[in-house]
Amino acid sequence: MKHLFHIAALAIAALLLTACPDPEPGPDVPDGPDDSWKKQASTEKLSGITYQLNVYSFADSDGDGWGDIKGITQHLDYLDSLGATALWLSPIHEAMSYHGYNVNDYTSVSSKLGTEADLKDLITKARARNIAIYLDFVLNHSGSDNEWFKAAKADPTGPYHDYYVFSDNPTADMASGKIDNFAGATTPGMGSWFTFSGGDIGYKGRLHFKVDMGAHTVTVTQTADAVQNPNTSNPQCWLWCGGFSQHVGLYTTGTNVYEITIDVNTDWGFLVCTSTSWASGTKWGGNGKGLTFGVPYPLNNTTAADITFGGDASWYFASFDASMPDLNYGPYDKASESPAFKALASAADKWIKMGIGGLRLDAVIWIYQNQTAANVEFLRQWYDRCNSTWKSNGGQGDFYMVGEAWDEVPKVAPYFEGLPSIFNFSYWWTVKDRINKGRGDDFAATVKGFRDRFAGYRPDYIDAIKLSNHDEDRVGNDFGRDVAKEKLAAAVLLTSPGKPFVYQGEELGYWGNKGKGDEYVRTPIKWTRSGSVPSTSLGGKVDNTMLTAEISVEAQESDPASVLRVYRNFAKARNAWKALAKGEITPVTSPNSAVALWKMSYEDQTVLVAHNFGNGSAAFAVTGYTTDKMIVSNGMADGSTGLLSLGPYASAVFLQ
Ligand code: MG
Repeated sequence: MKHLFHIAALAIAALLLTACPDPEPGPDVPDGPDDSWKKQASTEKLSGITYQLNVYSFADSDGDGWGDIKGITQHLDYLDSLGATALWLSPIHEAMSYHGYNVNDYTSVSSKLGTEADLKDLITKARARNIAIYLDFVLNHSGSDNEWFKAAKADPTGPYHDYYVFSDNPTADMASGKIDNFAGATTPGMGSWFTFSGGDIGYKGRLHFKVDMGAHTVTVTQTADAVQNPNTSNPQCWLWCGGFSQHVGLYTTGTNVYEITIDVNTDWGFLVCTSTSWASGTKWGGNGKGLTFGVPYPLNNTTAADITFGGDASWYFASFDASMPDLNYGPYDKASESPAFKALASAADKWIKMGIGGLRLDAVIWIYQNQTAANVEFLRQWYDRCNSTWKSNGGQGDFYMVGEAWDEVPKVAPYFEGLPSIFNFSYWWTVKDRINKGRGDDFAATVKGFRDRFAGYRPDYIDAIKLSNHDEDRVGNDFGRDVAKEKLAAAVLLTSPGKPFVYQGEELGYWGNKGKGDEYVRTPIKWTRSGSVPSTSLGGKVDNTMLTAEISVEAQESDPASVLRVYRNFAKARNAWKALAKGEITPVTSPNSAVALWKMSYEDQTVLVAHNFGNGSAAFAVTGYTTDKMIVSNGMADGSTGLLSLGPYASAVFLQ
């Protein structure tokens, strides 16, 4: 096998070398799957290319407007052509939203996306092409429709209550350190406390309301007096109450005093408003405690919790929104003993035993808010548990797991003590910044600096590098739809050390602004010139001005100057040349401030990587390196005369 590989590698080298120098992207990618060149140099976990896809919008096999798992299986040729060694699937479980990040059942496959049989089939067929499947696993929170959460709310003494973060008095409980998620912080780093309704906090019957906005109190009394119609003549104060779902105007009966008698039927209580617009500061509520009939109840317009009848309201915490209650793992040093940890680990076991190759963990810096050491220890326990299942199930090497720690490198690096791989957001921010500034000469040293810092926490760290993802503006947006810059960013990503992630649609040069709505950065793949895209899952929120015939896969496959061809060519080079895939980066001094230069070496192989981040041409000799054997290029690139010559935003890799 080794001998055959050697011959294959030489053949590739000959093919590539005879095609250069070439002002156009490199040689054509063979039709269909062809492993003669692919995935020889890279290994999936360490340096292979991972394609990040949104299952709900990647490819729709059954025409229901939702992308699905079968759609992925049907497009394995395409993923193969991008050199993918793994696929990161957006959450596949039953969930409350199309994106899947508010999970109702971690052991299920969403019926909108397919079946367990579909997933098994994808795992099997992808594995046959040396492509692993990574699932997105959400540990910070579940969906509020999850049966665990429903049971937890219904029974404070039941087995599910400890799965979530509850409090009857959040301010006091946070300050006292009683809540493990906060470690004594008096305000959340992100997120809010939400009240929730129970059967005993509503009321059905006739009540008299007296609001005193001088004293900021409301006094509610049970009464047999006649019901009044709401005041519709310029009221200054209103009630908002379950049962009538509209603002009810009160009558002015004194200075800052407003009253009314009405029949109510509410399962959650009521609020007082000084405007019908719900503008900030005009909603007045309570403090989470239930009122007592006949006793003035203090109003406030800051927490403005629902004013409940009888029983006290309780609160739950959510870092993101009310539909995503945070899970509670108790004291971090004993997290693995918590019931929530055990339940989630049991669910993860199911998928690992089915044959997935890794997990991507969402929002890992929010599990214990602003507590890096606690999160790291939690993640170490989680990883060890999953890796143990992986190994006992016959997995090769260690299980792959990557965490989303959305921050700058200095804050992210310690997470490598908990997980083998972490997304490197600073990498993309640096690529973006330097390309937009036209400055390349400090790029390699910056990347090396990131890696040195990671190595300080974990010698065998796996640097998960990326451009944009499903939560960020598209690369196209960040570069003002400048296709030359987009191609350069692709070439930089696929010639950098680490494990590159390519996000669905980046390879086609998509643009999209997250500010317009998340859906606009999660656009489906347009496969053919004339075909439509599955947009039901996105509520039809797709930018049809972008989804032209020319941006389709069909059109870009036949266009040697397309963004797609740059991705394919550089993926091919990465998978064929071990120095490019597995080499460590060594900065090379650049005589031109716009040009990034670095060396990559692995075993007996060395390559010189050159990218022009500027919009002008550059030409110079690189002392100590040869430029006559070009492996892959993009844009105007030549080294055959002894000078390294790069056109605007051009890239080239030279074998030493
Ligand atoms: Mg479908």
